[in-house]
Amino acid sequence: MIELNNTINLKENIPNCTPHCKEFLDYISGYARPSEMTLAVVSVEDFKDADDFFARAYGKRTQYDYRKIAEDGYTFKKLTTQERNSRLEELYAINTSTDQRQGGKMNETYYEYPKPREEDTCPHHFVQIYGAFNLDGIWIGYIDMYFAGEWCCVKHILGHQKYLNACKRGSFMVNLWFCVVKDVMENHPEINYIQYHLMGVGNTGLDEWKKRVGLQEGKIVTL
Ligand SMILES: [Zn+2]
Repeated sequence: MIELNNTINLKENIPNCTPHCKEFLDYISGYARPSEMTLAVVSVEDFKDADDFFARAYGKRTQYDYRKIAEDGYTFKKLTTQERNSRLEELYAINTSTDQRQGGKMNETYYEYPKPREEDTCPHHFVQIYGAFNLDGIWIGYIDMYFAGEWCCVKHILGHQKYLNACKRGSFMVNLWFCVVKDVMENHPEINYIQYHLMGVGNTGLDEWKKRVGLQEGKIVTL
């Protein structure tokens, strides 16, 4: 069990924030500090670097799948806002590729055509999207992350159902998650916690997946 300090620093009220930041912080504060809940989290300081995370947090079977997926020619990368905005049709295709996820119905917002996103200018508060691409360069899955101070958290995570079904090794999202963790560890030294919502809220399959990719149970405590 990872213990997260309840004074987790989201860098609120800092002078160089943009007007957009307050709205952003209001929106995410519920994600960042849900008291009494068990979070699914990676504590960055527990690992020397991304390679160490891969070696110790991913199980042998998951490491094997990861390498095979990479060998099969799938690629994973961080997208700029401009790249994302120029590929909205592919994003929409991913969002509408199934009407059922994790045993529940898809949220209606996935059926609205995605809007172009404005470039975030605050270095402490922003969203960042990461993409998975198949051998033909088609965008087939994404993880969208909130960043705030020392904390980052999954906003959306989704693979195109058709391409998930076609992937011989199971979920290529395992590789995409490592792409996120690696970027955070190498390029965002401010971040201490990487969160993917909660653990143990009734979806066993999703909990299993989270554990497979190195997420652990975390509690907010007063240190
Ligand atoms: Zn800000």
